[in-house]
Amino acid sequence: MSALSHYDKFGLHCFDDRVMQERLPQEIYESLRKIRDEGMEWDPLVADVVADAMKDWALELGATHYIHWFTPMTGASAGKHESFIDKLRGGEPIVRFSGRLLSKGEPDASSFPTGGLRTTFEARGYTTWDPTSPAFMFGTTLYIPTAFCGYCGESLDEKTPLLRSMQALNKQSLRVLRALGDDTTKKVNSTAGAEQEYFLIEKSLLDKRLDLKICGYTLTGARPPKGQELEDHYYGSVSERVRNFMRELDEELWLIGVPAKTEHNEVAPGQYELANIFASANIACDHNQITMELMRKVALRHGFVCLLHEKPFAGVNGSGKHNNWSLMTSNGRNLLAPGDSPVENREFLVFLCAVIAAVDDYADLIRLSAACAGNDYRLGANEAPPAIVSIFLGDPLTQLLKNLAEGHAYEMGSRGQLLTGVKSLPLLEMDDNDRNRTSPFAYTGNKFEFRMVGSSQSIGFANTVINAAVADELRLFADILEPAAGSKKKTEAAVAKIVHDTWEKHKKILFNGNNYAPEWWAEAKKRKLPDISDTVQATKALQRTENVEMFERTRVLSPSECSSRREVLLEGYVKTTRIAAATLLDMTRRSFLPSACEWLSKMASAQVKADAADAGSTYVNKMTGYLSNAIDACGKAADELAQAMEELETLEDLDQLGETARSLVQNEMADLRLCCDTLETLLPEDRWPVPGYSALLYDV
Ligand code: ADP
Ligand code: MG
Repeated sequence: MSALSHYDKFGLHCFDDRVMQERLPQEIYESLRKIRDEGMEWDPLVADVVADAMKDWALELGATHYIHWFTPMTGASAGKHESFIDKLRGGEPIVRFSGRLLSKGEPDASSFPTGGLRTTFEARGYTTWDPTSPAFMFGTTLYIPTAFCGYCGESLDEKTPLLRSMQALNKQSLRVLRALGDDTTKKVNSTAGAEQEYFLIEKSLLDKRLDLKICGYTLTGARPPKGQELEDHYYGSVSERVRNFMRELDEELWLIGVPAKTEHNEVAPGQYELANIFASANIACDHNQITMELMRKVALRHGFVCLLHEKPFAGVNGSGKHNNWSLMTSNGRNLLAPGDSPVENREFLVFLCAVIAAVDDYADLIRLSAACAGNDYRLGANEAPPAIVSIFLGDPLTQLLKNLAEGHAYEMGSRGQLLTGVKSLPLLEMDDNDRNRTSPFAYTGNKFEFRMVGSSQSIGFANTVINAAVADELRLFADILEPAAGSKKKTEAAVAKIVHDTWEKHKKILFNGNNYAPEWWAEAKKRKLPDISDTVQATKALQRTENVEMFERTRVLSPSECSSRREVLLEGYVKTTRIAAATLLDMTRRSFLPSACEWLSKMASAQVKADAADAGSTYVNKMTGYLSNAIDACGKAADELAQAMEELETLEDLDQLGETARSLVQNEMADLRLCCDTLETLLPEDRWPVPGYSALLYDV
């Protein structure tokens, strides 16, 4: 098959712009396009026509079912498959799909986490079609992206607040642009591009480990003799089997219109990455959700399991999801691109300042948007950004802002050329700044890269928080710019004021150094930047008055939605911890300890026999002693974990539950893990009941 025919199939199973233009009457298409591209209001007239066209298109592609596809607050995709059969007439199925069925579904809201927003007896919830994200055919099912809300419109999902935040951002961005003299831009969109990291491991090995099967990560595992220290995996050649997996994944993604672009080996053995080309934040979020779903499915076909957990292996790099974020006008202008003369680029300066102010003012919310139990193990360890939010701008841009703020002239130096020293290689123009891989929020030339998000998380909430916070700062800037509109001099002064004030107030959030260095912790403390190490602490951000008010002002989340989200996050954390603790206890008591005891008795009886023959070995004697001590320590640590779990069961208050899960249970788990890992090193490999790290990481 030629390369072209691969690309020819791109989007064939996506109800995209091409299909809509072809199959919808002109005025209906225009209505839909305006809703999507120009922020026009929803027009109920389009639903019936679109539903009909969508159904015909889907049936031609072999559809039997449709699904109102949504992402509840758990972050994992959901939906129920409904067939297109409406009723039977004389035994014959009648196929029907109306505008109403397209626009509205009624899943049982009580089966999803609502954080107290809905009780089981008020279970009604609705899914509503999101016409800004294209439907697609996956297998024999038509996937319709939807938002999921309660009876009174309370958001119960990732999409609704994201769409609201995009609306808020559009509104305030347009105010700023108009005040700066732009009359043509119709809409400003936030764009996102997610780089998804993941591990592939052998399914047959996974099946032998309860922790991987149930929790998606290893709860024990002694360090292998070779970790990632040689850094020989990063960008290294991909094995034939993994390559086949990637190829099949690409083809499936391309078919449904997801632009999978870059794939490579990541730093850790067994770790890989896939980046989709960026899209409007809402679509990018859907793209990422379906990418995760497909990764899991396709991996199984190749005998692998795809692990999306943030920290599958202790001591080895975890998996994150870099969320690249920018602002794009309806005429395709990137508002965070500096252009040739950033000093005179007022738009750029104002939008850049809004991001800096937003990240500083709402650092705790940004941190929260990347909080989940799995990510607690990742942040601040092995090549992951620390839990302290800061921005990397690079020296040239930082200097430029400083000079502008202090009223000095500044010229960006001309770009140098990258000299590789090899004459046959093309000369590359150097980027304005070297890349800083350690920063949690890094400017990369025309966008920001938020690197804290965990690999298993939806990017929905991260983008919601960034959009809402930036929108709210833009509101303040628009208030300053609007009275000056029309006068070049006054506008210049207003922009100068914005740059000056932002620099003075928010320069503390800027840090261009090494975020992994211990000195940064001390420095961040001096600057009073929040250092929020775990999910339980992070959820407090949803109680801070300034944050709740910001969400209310931007109409992204009501106060009750804030507290419900906090509850869902805490509940999720407690449940995840409880399951992990129970799994670890089960593995220890029913598998590790019995195996260790069996080996001990073998060694001991060998010793007794040898002693009787007067041929005792001091080595065997010593090892028997070690093992016996290690077994005792492990048994004791298991009892302590069991006790901690019992204590958890006595609690009802959610805050207490969270706190106890975090401090007590997680600590006991860490202690028990150490004991198990010691035991593992004392047993012969074939006596240890589960596959170890070397097999898991190197057998792919
Ligand atoms: P990295 O060097 O960080 O590994 P990649 O090239 O793998 O970068 O990924 C960069 C990501 O940023 C891609 O998903 C890309 O589509 C996305 N991106 C590029 N431009 C924008 C933009 N304007 N807005 C949002 N995302 C963008
Ligand atoms: Mg990146």
